[in-house]
Amino acid sequence: MKLRLLILAAIILMNSTIFAQSAKELASEWENGRVSKLFPSDVRHADLKKYLEQLKKIGLKVGEVGKSFGGREIYQVEFGTGATRVFMWSQMHGDEPTATSALVDMFAYLQKNRDKKWVKEIEKTLTIRAVPMLNPDGAELFQRFNLQNIDINRDARMLTTPEGQLLKKLRDEWSPEIGFNLHNQNSLTTVGRTNKQATISFLAVLGNSEGKSSEGFERNKRLISVMKLALDDFIKGNIGRYDDTFNPRAFGDMFSNWGTPVILIETGALHGKDEMFLTKLNFIAILSALKALVDKSEKTANPKIYDNLPFNSSDRIFNIIFRRANIINFKEQSEPFTADVGVNKERRRTQISAPTYVREIGDLAAQSGLEEFDTREFYLVLRTGQLRIGLSSEFLFYKKERKIDWTIKDLDENFPPDAVFKDGKWTKGANLFIKKQ
Ligand SMILES: [Zn+2]
Repeated sequence: MKLRLLILAAIILMNSTIFAQSAKELASEWENGRVSKLFPSDVRHADLKKYLEQLKKIGLKVGEVGKSFGGREIYQVEFGTGATRVFMWSQMHGDEPTATSALVDMFAYLQKNRDKKWVKEIEKTLTIRAVPMLNPDGAELFQRFNLQNIDINRDARMLTTPEGQLLKKLRDEWSPEIGFNLHNQNSLTTVGRTNKQATISFLAVLGNSEGKSSEGFERNKRLISVMKLALDDFIKGNIGRYDDTFNPRAFGDMFSNWGTPVILIETGALHGKDEMFLTKLNFIAILSALKALVDKSEKTANPKIYDNLPFNSSDRIFNIIFRRANIINFKEQSEPFTADVGVNKERRRTQISAPTYVREIGDLAAQSGLEEFDTREFYLVLRTGQLRIGLSSEFLFYKKERKIDWTIKDLDENFPPDAVFKDGKWTKGANLFIKKQ
């Protein structure tokens, strides 16, 4: 037994030298060779088709496998001829685009690097199939739902959507041994009890409510440990674990239940980094997992690394916090009061300036903002005259020493504000505030 372990360890060590490829190398190869050039949130169905044309040109198998409710083609890409079947799908939620671009880059990379030992091994031992952009109608509208306004990821049981039916069919006909379910989570998701953004969250999906484990589930935990270590080079401390409550309407859960143990990857955000950075992280994570499968390093990976990932948390951070603002609700002629104001942005394509809305008012000392402004020397009034949760409006700021008649009609004409904040940006007076970050 001991000898066998030693031999296994020796083989793995040998393999890891032959197959040496660090996460940092993958990152620079992605930077130099990527196919995806647009921000993922700008990739429409027509853009995906252009990407797929490029994949076809370099020799990858790309086929139409079905149509969306709106009649848009849904494609599957394939690489490798091996016995182990790996299936991936992205963007079943139309406004969750990061992994679609990452999959395109992954296939291009594999095809172009077939002379590398570890890629050769992938080609020989795995067959990888992926459906990038399962929900092209939702992607076009940048909305979560399909064109029937159904959440495809709540349709695993009823199968009312053509996209859900297709996903089920692709699994049932092929019975893959591993599934990758690729999503985006709220950019304000945080890691455990920290106020750090969860840039990537993982989940090994159990697929039953009784907590019954399986070999594939244990393997997936080890694969996530491998991916976590690879990403530590880039986002250490910003990696979380997704909620593991079993949901019989969700495809990730049901794939696992039907015999294809699934790894869920949820991409969040990292303040100051753009969407391409997130694409790169997806690319590195997925390729690191595939490599670990074929060089067998997965077998000795420590599942505790996965177990120790802190669960996701929420409501700990805001896009913006105005600290200690002196609030005037002039419409109610109320007395000014002091409070922190937490403001969030709605989800939009990156290029569009997203509307902001008031999320919380009061003591936010324990929470933090991706951007914070010290507003204690200012009155804060909303153009509407009432600061209310959920309201999307313009924030007007007046220096406290000014004498303002708050009851006057056309307030900002008679008393022009010193600063104005709208749609997540200062449109006036930005220089009056010291930015915390
Ligand atoms: Zn999603």
